[in-house]
Amino acid sequence: MGIDLGGTKVEACLVDETRKILARKRRPSEPRLGGEKVVANILELVADTAAGTPYEAIGMGTPGTYHAGDDIMYGAPHTPLYEKPGLISLLGAKLTVPLIIENDANCLALAEFFAQCYGKYETVMAVILGTGMGSGLILGNKLHRGPNGNAGEIGHSSIDINGRLCGCGRRGCGEAYLSGPSLTRRYKNLSGETLAPQEIFGRFKRGEQNALVLFAESFRIMGELFANCVNILDLQAIILGGGVSNIPLWYDGVPPHMDKAIFGIPGRRIPLMKAVLGDSAGVLGAAFLGLRAMGLMEF
Ligand SMILES: [Zn+2]
Repeated sequence: MGIDLGGTKVEACLVDETRKILARKRRPSEPRLGGEKVVANILELVADTAAGTPYEAIGMGTPGTYHAGDDIMYGAPHTPLYEKPGLISLLGAKLTVPLIIENDANCLALAEFFAQCYGKYETVMAVILGTGMGSGLILGNKLHRGPNGNAGEIGHSSIDINGRLCGCGRRGCGEAYLSGPSLTRRYKNLSGETLAPQEIFGRFKRGEQNALVLFAESFRIMGELFANCVNILDLQAIILGGGVSNIPLWYDGVPPHMDKAIFGIPGRRIPLMKAVLGDSAGVLGAAFLGLRAMGLMEF
C-alpha cells in the first residue's frame, strides 16, 4: 500500500509484486481538524483502497522529512499540524503492518527513476517544482536520503548571496526564483500584474516582453543551479516534475545554460527529462517503499 499524504488530500494505491496499481483512491486529509482526524482519514482510505485484499506493508510519502527520533515532520511549513510531534506514531500504533516514511520528493524520484532511468542511468536527480522546490537523489541505483533524510534540498541552495529573500530566511535560494509563487512574484515585479505561471507562459508564446525576460532569466538560473548539482554529484540525468514542470519551455531553454556550466569532460550533455507519471508518481513511489521492505525491490 502506498500513501501520499498532502496538506489538503491524502491518496492511496494498492500495488502487486509486479508494481502494477490494483486500486487508487483519494480523500481530504483535513489537518485543520487535528491529528486524530487525519489518522482516521488515512485508515479509512487504506481500508477503502484495499477493499479486503491483504497487504503486507505501507509506504507513505510526506511533505517535509520525518525524523523518527523526535516524531516530527520537518520542513512542512504549509501544514503546521505536520510539524507537531505525534502524528506518525499515532498512525503507526494503529497499524499491524510495517510503515515506512519518506518525503514526497524522494517518493517522486523513486517512481520516475524506475519509470524512465533504471538500467540506463544510475545517478539521477528528480526535481519537484510547484509551490516549493525539492528533489530526490538516486546515486548508484540507491535512494540517497542522507543520515537525517535531508539530502536533495536543492530549493534551498543559493545561487546569489545578495539575491531574493526565500521563505526559509536565506537569500538567493532556487525556490525564491523558480517555484510557481516565485515566478508569479518575479513577473509582478517586471509587469505589475499577478499571473499564474501557465498564464505567463501564454504571454511568452505571444512574444510579450516581460514574459520573455522572466523566462530567459529563469532558464539561466535553473541551468546554473542544476549544473552545480551535476558538478557535485556527477549526475547522468535530471528529471523535472511538479506543476511548474508542465511548462514545456524548460526542456529546450535550460540545457544550453547547464552545458556551459558543467565542469570537466568537454561537451558533456546532461539530459533534462520531463516527469512522465504525472500526479501518480508520489503515491507509486511510496508503494515502492513497501515493496522494498518486503524484499521485492532494491534501491
Ligand atoms: Zn530557501
